[in-house]
This record gives sequence, C-alpha cells and structure tokens, in this order.
Amino acid sequence: MSSKPRFPGFVNAHSHSFQRLIRGKSESRVTSGRDFWSWRGTMYHAAANLDPEDVYDVARMAFLEMLLSGTTTVGEFHYLHNRPDGKPYDDPNLLSKQIIAAAQSVGIRLVLLRSAYLRAGFELPPDPGQIRFYETAEQFLANMEALRKQYPELLIGVAPHSLRAVPLAPLKEIAGWARQQKLPVHMHVAEQVAENEACLREYGATPVALLDREGLLGPDFTAVHAIHVTREEIDALAKAKATICSCPTTERNLGDGILAADEVMRAGIPVALGSDSQAQIDPLEDARQLDYHLRLEQEQRAILDQIAGQPLAQRLLDCATINGARALGVNPDPATDFFTVDPDDVSIAGHSESDLLSLAVFTLNRSAICDVMVGGQWVVRDHRHPLQEEIVSRYQELHRRLWSGSQ
Ligand SMILES: [Zn+2]
Repeated sequence: MSSKPRFPGFVNAHSHSFQRLIRGKSESRVTSGRDFWSWRGTMYHAAANLDPEDVYDVARMAFLEMLLSGTTTVGEFHYLHNRPDGKPYDDPNLLSKQIIAAAQSVGIRLVLLRSAYLRAGFELPPDPGQIRFYETAEQFLANMEALRKQYPELLIGVAPHSLRAVPLAPLKEIAGWARQQKLPVHMHVAEQVAENEACLREYGATPVALLDREGLLGPDFTAVHAIHVTREEIDALAKAKATICSCPTTERNLGDGILAADEVMRAGIPVALGSDSQAQIDPLEDARQLDYHLRLEQEQRAILDQIAGQPLAQRLLDCATINGARALGVNPDPATDFFTVDPDDVSIAGHSESDLLSLAVFTLNRSAICDVMVGGQWVVRDHRHPLQEEIVSRYQELHRRLWSGSQ
C-alpha cells in the first residue's frame, strides 16, 4: 500500500441544503412536470413542511455528504426564513441559526449566504409556495445586522435571490449595504430564458446587462448560473472582475442549459462550482462536466485545455477550490484543508505521478476519499464521520415523515 495522495479541500460555492430532500422525488413528469418551473412545485412541497429541527437535520445530511466528497467549505444560499404560515419566527433568524448549528455539528466551514426574497416575480401575485421565503428589504437588512451582532465570527454573504425575486430599487439598497460592509454578493442570474424575458419586459435589459448598467457588478459579485448570456454580458462580467458560479450537475438535471465555459474562461472570468439542488453532491463531477458538456456540443475534446496556457485538469481543480474560495471571500490553507485518497481504490488504481491530477479530476470516485481535514481538524477518518449513523438515521426518519402518503 503506497502513501495517500492529498488534494486541497473543495469549496462548494452554491448550496440549498434542504433540497437534498427532493433527490429522487422530482424525476418524473407525472409529479414534477417537464421543466424548471414545474420542478419548483416539488421543491416547494419540501420547503413548506420543514420545522426548525428538520432544517437542521437535512442541512447536517447535505453537509455530511459534502465532507465525504472532499468539500471543506460550503456557501449555503439560504432563503427559508419564515414559519410555514409565512409569518416570521419570534427570532426571524431561527432557521439561519439552524444552518449555522448544522455546519458546526458536522465540522464543515460555512459561509452563510443569507438570501433576500421579496416577491414572486414581475407582475406576479405572491406565490403560496414561497411564503416562507418572503421578507421586506428592511426586514432582510435588520435580520442580517442582528445575525452579525450575535455571531461576530460568522462568515456571511448577501444573496439577493434573483432579479425575479428582488426588484431593482431594493436590490440597489441591499447591494449598497453589502458593499459598505465588504461582504460578497451572490445572485441567481440568467438560469432560464423565461427569467431573462421577464427582466427584459420589466427593465428593458436582460439580467447581466441590467446589473452592469446599474453598477452592481464587481469583484465581490458572483453570478450563479449565467447560462443565457450574450457576448457583451460576458465582457461586462469580465470587466467587472465578477465570478460565475456554475452548477453543472443541477443544471443538467433541470435542463437549464450549458455554460459557455470556453468563452467565459477565455474572457478571464473565474468559474466556481456549486451543488445547488443537491441532485448529486460530487464536486469533481461538476468540474469535469464544464468540459464534457462542451465536448458534446462541439464534437471535440479537451475544449478548456491550455486557455491562458493552463492545463485542463489544473483549471478544473481551480474551479472546485480557489475560485469558489474567492467567490465566498475566504482563503482556506491547503495545508489544513485537504482530503486524502486511497491510491488502491479501483477508480484510480494504476497511475503515475504525472497523470494523477488528470486521473483524479476525470475519474476519481467518492469511494476513494479517505480522510478529510477542515481548518486543521480531522472531520472524516478512514471514510467515516463520527456522527454519520446518527445524522443518516435522523435524516431517514425526516424523509419518511415528509413523503409519507405522497408521491
Ligand atoms: Zn440555486
């Protein structure tokens, strides 16, 4: 048995932990319809029925799976705020605190991207499926302030959900506050064509063009998805030094479309990765899909190789590590944030030093990941997390309760 190679811990820059509950429940047109918009019905069913303890349990389950897949930092884009009847809890940050506690319990580094969700969309009445998400801009900012006061050490970012959910005027107010506080800003942008069309109707511009026009892009801004963007919009993101967070395993699951990673990377935009809907939690699968999706489109191989002189595997590893860290405003040290792999695992056995990185990026199976360290603490040893049985069994009970009698 040879010594175990080490890799830097992955950074998951975009997660909605509670959506782990709909894995496997949304793969039928009968129950979840044919597109992203109908899929949301299944997602809203899960969101509507969780009590605070459930939010904690599902977050622990998602974070556990992330650790076991080599992720040491997660940006949790959290928009579940209210009671099931739509009213705030006595402590309006109660569910944010459940996420914080879940991350502490499993030992993953959390950047809480607390989300502002103010409306259903342009010219749309409030959606009953979203009543647990809604706050006013004033409430959002007050809740952010309170959270920061109560958790001075908390790594936090500001996440206006989308232009659909946050109109321009409050968006400017929220982004202005975030800039003042020097916090990262994350936003869903150009995931769906219909969303772009609604933005065009409301403001006369598509999302990235509008954000550019209003001076809202910047090095602190991360555009999540950025699939349906024009050449000019790519240039605007590059000029602003913004990051794009791509979520290929979710985007392919939802039929969102394909990020033009070649154009984006050639323009110099850093691409981070996120597990988003948790359809699959496997950062290397996200990384390799950036190139694989383009291969299928362009009928060529290794499309992203040698952009700016960088070899493909290193470029994809950067997407799963340092680019995500940049998007979240953190800087984990690979000496204390890393995972080890078993060189005898069948997915990577038989390699040489020079091809290890390519092999890992393109074929490493999660089963090869042995030990995970976060901030100098071992959290996974020999493929096991010390709380694994308890976390999984509580999650299984929640899953049974949530789905009993339905679908
Ligand atoms: Zn998302």
